[in-house]
Amino acid sequence: MVTNEGKENIDAISCFGYCKDCGEIHELPSELAIPHCLELMAQLGEHRRIDFDVALEDADPRLSTDGLYTAMRGRMFGILVCQDAEGKEVILRAFSSRHNGVWNVSGWVPPLVDEHRFVAEVALGNLDIHPLTDLIATLPKESKEWYLKIAERRIVSHGILAKLNALYEIHNFRNEKRSLEAAFYLEKGIPVGTGDCCAPKLLNYAAIHHLKPISMAEFFWGKETASGHRKEGAFYASCAEKCQPLLGFMLCGVNNLIH
Ligand SMILES: [Zn+2]
Ligand SMILES: [Zn+2]
Repeated sequence: MVTNEGKENIDAISCFGYCKDCGEIHELPSELAIPHCLELMAQLGEHRRIDFDVALEDADPRLSTDGLYTAMRGRMFGILVCQDAEGKEVILRAFSSRHNGVWNVSGWVPPLVDEHRFVAEVALGNLDIHPLTDLIATLPKESKEWYLKIAERRIVSHGILAKLNALYEIHNFRNEKRSLEAAFYLEKGIPVGTGDCCAPKLLNYAAIHHLKPISMAEFFWGKETASGHRKEGAFYASCAEKCQPLLGFMLCGVNNLIH
């Protein structure tokens, strides 16, 4: 089902970002990816799981889409139409972030980070954070020591986030590779979850595998967001907070690729 809202922005350029190296906005059109998104919506609607490539008896229960209709609500899915070196069309698909905690699903592009390294880093970070949280709970609220420990915990958690961010390697179409921090355009802090949306996953995979991106579109699937801003079957531009500041770097060189 495609809502009217989805149809209105169906032809819009939805994947773009300002590239500070070139001093211009790089972009990818959506049009060619739209029919593939509609097909993916039909598959998700019919099978109600994201591992619909495998037979039902082999399906992983964690990959059901039922969770998208609970209080956890829906998520974004995306398609990137590419060309390989022979000019053959290659269709990539992505789900944003993790699906029920699952990072890697056959038939979908992988995350930018190594799952095991990320989980190990989070576990290490918790070893530092949890004792502080426990200690803070024992201190008189708004006492001098309470404030000191709250500040210490903030510093420790920033350090953990920096370590997690350091696991991301961002590639573009000029064979360049940057850290998340170096690729992110805005001066202000990098939001948690940057690099986990569909657009960075799709573009990073294409860049690493020498595929030329032609068209990208992203749509929302599942129960609408609490704010009602995202509805099932509607298309949306890559997000302004996490993706657009990355996409300028990631799309750099995309229009000059010779295949
Ligand atoms: Zn995003
Ligand atoms: Zn550029």
